[in-house]
Amino acid sequence: MSRILVTGAAGFLGSFLCDRLLADGHEVIGMDNRVSGQIENLDDAFYHDQFSFYEHDVTEFIHIAGELDAVLHLASLASPVFYRDHPIKTLKVGALGTHKTLGLAKEKDATYLFTSTSEVYGDPEVNPQPESYRGNVDPYGPRSCYDESKRYGESLVRAYRDKHDLDVRVARIFNTYGPRMRLDDGRVIPNFMKQALTGKDLTVYGDGEQTRSFCYVSDMIDGLIALLESSVQEPVNIGNPDERTINGLADVILDVTESDSETTYEELPPQDPQVRRPDISKARSELNWEPEVTLREGLETSVEYFAQRL
Ligand code: NAD
Ligand code: UDP
Repeated sequence: MSRILVTGAAGFLGSFLCDRLLADGHEVIGMDNRVSGQIENLDDAFYHDQFSFYEHDVTEFIHIAGELDAVLHLASLASPVFYRDHPIKTLKVGALGTHKTLGLAKEKDATYLFTSTSEVYGDPEVNPQPESYRGNVDPYGPRSCYDESKRYGESLVRAYRDKHDLDVRVARIFNTYGPRMRLDDGRVIPNFMKQALTGKDLTVYGDGEQTRSFCYVSDMIDGLIALLESSVQEPVNIGNPDERTINGLADVILDVTESDSETTYEELPPQDPQVRRPDISKARSELNWEPEVTLREGLETSVEYFAQRL
């Protein structure tokens, strides 16, 4: 059994990661300041006697008594709507929060996992994106608070690896969806689900021909655990390479919700990436991992959650 700190524990991915680590027999300490998380995501975890939770802002000094075997830093604003509303908090959690959690990992001699993002590739000029692609990010652009916070975070992780010989992992996560996402999250799948289930028009931004590649949450958690348990200290893309247009996604959602909603077209947010698809060759070869859940299966499993939340 290991003793593991998860930041961002009340969030979508953090809460599933806590559940998985508890099921695997670990002691888990969850931490979150609830800026975008939902504490009810941890309802199952709170039943577990190996789980404890601290409400704390990880940009402030973190004190944990006793030993830690791993620090998993997921805390961040993650939805474009939220990070545009909270750009300074986003930059602080990627910079100061990563610094504090790295310092803690160094103090405890713990393995450190950083959840980076496909957004480090910005609006990519190559598709799919391998880890070696250096990205096309506008440092002064409307998404830069998120993109640059994660790029800086990766750089800080690299510095702790080089300078302090910290045992590090960097997951570059691509669009992930499933139960426990907030309905007001603003990301495309919660938006379309809510709209389809309430008979409202699906709001497609731009012409809907931009692409994303959607990974179901259980596959993502398997990928993160595989990375944690590996010894790969370089960034690894974790995502599902099944690339769809947003128009195509809307069609599948209308189908699985059996909705009569129409689609309407709204203005594309500035610098919205035109394409995004992970090259997961590295995850396949070095982690022996690849996603298993199809988009249709994942959406079918998620409908019940979204319907209940309404
Ligand atoms: P989420 O918003 O559901 O969860 C993030 C959690 O971090 C929230 O509970 C929030 O309250 C918490 N948090 C934010 N700032 C904090 C702070 N200063 N102190 C303590 N807690 C803080 O997001 P998610 O989708 O679960 O994403 C988890 C991680 O994965 C994030 O780092 C995100 O950047 C990364 N990621 C997610 C996706 C995705 O598609 N879900 C894609 C790429 C990267
Ligand atoms: N999008 C959309 N309608 C919505 C929400 C999002 O067409 O109601 C589009 C958005 O412009 C982007 C894609 O869906 O092209 C994915 O957006 P999301 O906010 O989920 O995440 P991103 O991949 O941009 O970080």
